[in-house]
Amino acid sequence: MSTPSNPSPLLIALSAPSGGGKTTLCQQLLAANPNVTRAITCTTRAPRPGEKDNADYYFLDADTFLKRVQAGHFLEHATVHGNSYGTLKSEVLDKLRSGKDVLLNIDVQGAAALRERAEAEEELRRALVTVFLTTATVSELEARLKKRAQDSPEVIQKRMNAARHEIAQWKNFQYLITSTTVTEDLRRMQAVITAEKMRQHRVRPPTLD
Ligand code: 5GP
Repeated sequence: MSTPSNPSPLLIALSAPSGGGKTTLCQQLLAANPNVTRAITCTTRAPRPGEKDNADYYFLDADTFLKRVQAGHFLEHATVHGNSYGTLKSEVLDKLRSGKDVLLNIDVQGAAALRERAEAEEELRRALVTVFLTTATVSELEARLKKRAQDSPEVIQKRMNAARHEIAQWKNFQYLITSTTVTEDLRRMQAVITAEKMRQHRVRPPTLD
């Protein structure tokens, strides 16, 4: 999983509540870093308008999803808002092994499962970096969702309740990015990546000659 240009690629697991700024940050990060690629995950939910299979998600029916669970194809899988979501082992490991840094957008349950798995699996442990992104207050999240005007008041309330549960887990992540502006969120994420690449176990050691 190491290539000369990227000796120790990162698996950046990013979690955020709705309105946390995750989608924009992911887009910006991918545009700014050619060596970062997104891990496409699987879901049983229906595609939203404009979403494409094999690009936004691998959209699977419940039966196919279950078969993949049983066959042990997932690194982790979870139920989120009543639908199944899962990260394929092949998707993450193939991309890491090709020397790419991998951005993985998952919920807090998925991040917890990965952390646990990384304890036992060296390849994951070497790569995994966990980041939680949210606004400083829940009311700011709510204001963002209202401004976005995509959801009904009931849906916004549901998302806020879910957000409180997710935010309560922020300490389980290595990094907290408090979302402010798009530019600042990106700058902070880049800082995390830069620092993580300088960790002892990821650098190419200096030679003594
Ligand atoms: P959405 O349906 O809005 O695209 O995503 C809902 C939630 O599912 C988001 O928090 C997203 O990060 C999470 N998610 C997407 N793919 C996966 C996955 O493979 N595993 C887990 N645990 N969560 C996922």
